[in-house]
Amino acid sequence: MAQVWDVIVVGGGTAGMPAATFAAERGARVLVIDAAPDVGGTLHLSTGQLSAAGTNLQARKGVSDTTDAHYDDIMRISKNTADPVLVRLAVGHAAETFNWLQDNGFEPLSEHPVLGKAHEPYSERRYYWGIDGGMSILNTLRGPFQAQVDAGRISVKLSTEVTALVKDEDGAVVGVETAGPDSNETIHGTNVVLACGGYSSNGEMFRELNGFPQYFNGAYPYAQGAGIRLGQSVGGVLRGHAYYLCGYGAVLDSDTIPAGMTVRPIHHPEMREPWEIHVNVRGERYVQEDVRSVDVREHALLKQPELRRWVIYDNAIAQASPPQFDGVDKTAEMAFFDTHPMFAKADTLDALAQAAGIDAGGLAATVAAYNAAIATGAPDPMGRQHRPLPIKQGPFYAIRVQGTSISSTVGLAVDADLRVIDKDNKPIANLYAAGELLGSGQTMGDSFCGGMMATPALTFGRLLGQRLLNWEDRAAQAAE
Ligand SMILES: Cc1cc2nc3c(=O)[nH]c(=O)nc-3n(C[C@H](O)[C@H](O)[C@H](O)COP(=O)(O)OP(=O)(O)OC[C@H]3O[C@@H](n4cnc5c(N)ncnc54)[C@H](O)[C@@H]3O)c2cc1C
Repeated sequence: MAQVWDVIVVGGGTAGMPAATFAAERGARVLVIDAAPDVGGTLHLSTGQLSAAGTNLQARKGVSDTTDAHYDDIMRISKNTADPVLVRLAVGHAAETFNWLQDNGFEPLSEHPVLGKAHEPYSERRYYWGIDGGMSILNTLRGPFQAQVDAGRISVKLSTEVTALVKDEDGAVVGVETAGPDSNETIHGTNVVLACGGYSSNGEMFRELNGFPQYFNGAYPYAQGAGIRLGQSVGGVLRGHAYYLCGYGAVLDSDTIPAGMTVRPIHHPEMREPWEIHVNVRGERYVQEDVRSVDVREHALLKQPELRRWVIYDNAIAQASPPQFDGVDKTAEMAFFDTHPMFAKADTLDALAQAAGIDAGGLAATVAAYNAAIATGAPDPMGRQHRPLPIKQGPFYAIRVQGTSISSTVGLAVDADLRVIDKDNKPIANLYAAGELLGSGQTMGDSFCGGMMATPALTFGRLLGQRLLNWEDRAAQAAE
């Protein structure tokens, strides 16, 4: 008779590796199937920033923190749009995950934990990452995972895609169909964990579910949305459609969709106060450029046509201002204006608008209003505080910045036991899901909350590995 696995883990990435490891440590026979030629998934690319409250590291550094405070922060930052049940589950068990990583060799940077800057800061220092980003986490996961492979409790099929779920006559999931390098197979299992990631490398699905083109090609290539389709094929439903958010943007290398990234502007006023103004395609300012909340800037950009903004300035600002891109000095920054399609330079504002593709009348009126307020000492029309120079001395400069994101916002609905549920909130028997497949809209709502994708992925994977009980029930029955 063909083997029936205790657990089939679809996708051996951030969520799948701990799911398999913890299940195997409890004696389960686990099969991990991954479309890629290596396990690890998005950890190969991820920045790997984690958030967890109540960790041993915090205690050692005298940081007093609670999971309630973490939960409250996420609900505050997400304006109560994150899923309360999943956020509670994630933050309530994040410290165990983090401590486990540390026990297995994970080393955060020496100054950690920190509050965080790239996203809306937390109210307490509970944010950590390793020197190699996601790879620091993956290198840690490999040890305990490989130990279970060596012990014969985890088997791994790589370069093998799960293409369908197998159901019995009652609708329970009892296995998967796979397409591997040499053959297609039907494989049976008692529990199936969908941990096959998001859809951010699937342009069509990205546009369909996030509502915007996938402008930037920075996601894991195997994030093709397989889990969404697999879950839906057995009655699973989706959540989080209203919550897409773009970051405050990057300079992309071309108009191709998706394109690569050339440079990332330093838009955080805490790191560099803005000397320039930001306008949309109509030449209008749309946000107070130095507003402290990154969430406010991101949501303002989200409302602009094609999620685009142009950074506008003049020669005096070019001379006086500090570098505006991560890791790029002033000479290299200015050289972009001779070669790069997103950088425009002209002797007049009118010619600049033409070159950059912005409405010339709108830009002229915006710059005039900005300059007039500086000249008279009147408050800035958008409330901006830092405005060291007017924009009036050619040559003038425009840099096109694209709002982008690599998150899969929409995801499968699950209950508090991470069971995939149908439209009536009924669990689909034997089917579980974890990781980005649940969608950022559920763990972060309509905002970016630091660490709230990678940490829940690891935590939910671990919890499934610790909690899936069917094989124990069977062993207990057999012993009776
Ligand atoms: C550049 C970048 C930076 C990020 N930085 C952060 C951060 O700092 N903090 C944070 O919280 N989050 C961050 N994220 C997001 C976070 O890393 C991911 O959401 C998380 O790692 C996803 O985990 P996962 O287990 O759901 O998916 P993955 O880790 O991608 O694992 C899914 C696995 O499933 C496999 N797979 C896909 N389809 C199939 C199929 N049909 N059959 C079999 N296998 C399949 C894939 O090959 C992959 O190995 C970042 C993401 C990116 C891209």
